[in-house]
Amino acid sequence: MPSTPSAPAGSVPAGTTPAGSASSGTATHCPYCALQCAQTLTPVAGGGADGAPVLTVEGRDFPTNQGGLCRKGWTSAEVLTAPDRLTAPQLRGADGVLREVSWDAALDHVATHLREQRERRGADAVAVFGGGGLTNEKAYALGKFTRVVLGSRLIDYNGRFCMSAAATASNRSLGLDRGLPFPLPDLAGADCVLLLGSNLAATMPPFVQHLEGVRSRGGLVVTDPRGSATAALTAEGAGVHLAPVPGTDLVVLLALLHVVLAEDLVDYEYVAARTTGLASLRASAAAWWPERAEAVCGVPARRLRQVARMLADASPSRGGRGAYVLTGRGVEQSTQGTATVTAAIDLALLLGLVGRRGSGYGPLTGQGNGQGGREHGLKADQLPGYRKITDPEDRAHVAAVWGVDPESLPGPGVPAVELLGMLGTAGGPSALIVCGANPVVSAPDVSRVRERLAALDLLVVLDTVPSETALLADVLLPVTQWAEEEGTMTNLEGRVIRRRRAREAPGGARSELWILRELAARLGVPRGFPAEASAVFDELARASAGGRADYSGLSHERLDREGSMHWPVPAPGHPGTPHALLDGFPTADGRARLIPVTHEDPADPLRADAPLHLVTGRLLEQYQSGAQTRRVPSLLAARPAAFAQMHPLLADLLGIEDGEQVLLRTRSGELRVPAEVTEEIRPDTVFMPFHYPGEGSANLLTGSATDPLSGMPGFKVTALEVLPAPRPVPAPDVVTVQQRSAV
Ligand code: SF4
Repeated sequence: MPSTPSAPAGSVPAGTTPAGSASSGTATHCPYCALQCAQTLTPVAGGGADGAPVLTVEGRDFPTNQGGLCRKGWTSAEVLTAPDRLTAPQLRGADGVLREVSWDAALDHVATHLREQRERRGADAVAVFGGGGLTNEKAYALGKFTRVVLGSRLIDYNGRFCMSAAATASNRSLGLDRGLPFPLPDLAGADCVLLLGSNLAATMPPFVQHLEGVRSRGGLVVTDPRGSATAALTAEGAGVHLAPVPGTDLVVLLALLHVVLAEDLVDYEYVAARTTGLASLRASAAAWWPERAEAVCGVPARRLRQVARMLADASPSRGGRGAYVLTGRGVEQSTQGTATVTAAIDLALLLGLVGRRGSGYGPLTGQGNGQGGREHGLKADQLPGYRKITDPEDRAHVAAVWGVDPESLPGPGVPAVELLGMLGTAGGPSALIVCGANPVVSAPDVSRVRERLAALDLLVVLDTVPSETALLADVLLPVTQWAEEEGTMTNLEGRVIRRRRAREAPGGARSELWILRELAARLGVPRGFPAEASAVFDELARASAGGRADYSGLSHERLDREGSMHWPVPAPGHPGTPHALLDGFPTADGRARLIPVTHEDPADPLRADAPLHLVTGRLLEQYQSGAQTRRVPSLLAARPAAFAQMHPLLADLLGIEDGEQVLLRTRSGELRVPAEVTEEIRPDTVFMPFHYPGEGSANLLTGSATDPLSGMPGFKVTALEVLPAPRPVPAPDVVTVQQRSAV
């Protein structure tokens, strides 16, 4: 029995910030990750320098965070008053300098140049890159703007780097991608939770509360090549930590499948009634007996057997309270990300966990609205309501809501990495609109991304602060932030929640909805782009009606009156769907698919001059590209710069001391950062956080190879060389020489 779990660093224990303690404030949710912790924002008397109120943040009771917040959440209001907050449109002059201009001048310039590019080079001359932090309303409006006003097929978003592998696998195997198809508090009752590649104790600390039950029963299993904060939750009998070789998560899963099949741990009744494909799955897993898997993934065979049996014993068919298989970016951000998630789903299906109360499979969405963004139009191949842009009926439905001919809607675009690689090429787009994203830091192989952005004729960036991408813009448009706007978000469990305005935006910042309306009018579409979020939501609800992500029973008014709801909500009186898949799978025959997968060598395998694994990831104190959190003084002070985490054995071998500068080199590039020496990592692996720009940008080192099925970049599998950084050669002491001459 483990000791009582302590609250993870940075979290507020549940109950310390009661829901009613700030009832006079504005009830909203954190701007950052997909846990979407509930907050109450209260103005402080006196206000800030810009005249708008300064806000205090308190946690609010809500099923996902139960009153808790992490450090990012507590300090989130500080981003609103960042000293370099953008408050006026800026236009780059012939001299290369960005200067403030009026909104009319900026929008006229953008419209004129977009029209020009389209006339010269066709509709696909203009591309759009969105962000997973945009509200559902903004995501919807941006997708509609791209397809109706620009007529371009080229839209995608940074959620491609987050959820694409899990979404592709979930749709293929289960017919549904809703993140978690069950409410988060359900985890508390399980006997076993297999957490594959997520460091949630650092990235979303309030989540840890939901694991207290399974930890108390010794059933938490964490796979991570690092002894992360989450892996540490398995200590003292709370569970098992597996530390596979990076890039071999699929081998771990194939071995678990092998044991479940070989030891007859399958829930045959469930498999017969609710799935297809057992025979072919059996054939694919047969080759991965635990001893063979151990030789590839480094996890002891006895541990693999132990975990398979733990999961099976926890499953309802064997009398357990329930078991869950959860995936995170650690296993998904790979060139075989879809295959890896598919194997995780296969495992959950074999054990009869999916679509059953108290058990299940789900991916842990990262970005605040990564889920809603892809449901409502930011993804290259999707229309609102999770409709397919290639399906004639789906096109006809959405076109009718938009009042356009279905034939006028473009076809599918291309995934984000491919899109970024096309920019400024002979056949690619010559103009790009970036909305709520910072690909110069967050995309793989950022040197190449910078090159492509520089080759554009027009780069328009909508942002709240001068992010690294915004600083490259030809036109920079300042937009509102979360506490300055109304809208909705869809969290990691498919729960639609309300975001509410607590203060006015400073200066000339405008909502993206207003900007899209103004641009649409200038481009000849004067109607169909309301600037009020509730009106956009009402249209989104109609467009989603009958789709997989059906929001048609929702409105801002209903969410305000009745609180958050899980989709689908197909009618105004419908209570929502906290548990999806209970009555069957939305596939042609109502059954889930057991799909065989094979392990492939990584796209960038180890070699003599790159014998180490580079893995990238997140820190508690920073979020995504860091454009927001690096502007919060306490978060920046806690984690001011990038570093390379490595094991003492590796450091000794290379002659590197803790804190010493090291040179990291991969096929894509090289950089220098200080070493952080810790035993909490495999000796063959180096970890770098990816939140930092410039010389400390981990994505200078990652490559552009992607998963062929989902377009997910292989962030987690890069071959690396590490060297002590050459000490800088001292510059000649010019002053001394001159002094000597003078003498
Ligand atoms: S960053 Fe995530 S975990 Fe932290 S307070 Fe915000 S929503 Fe909660």
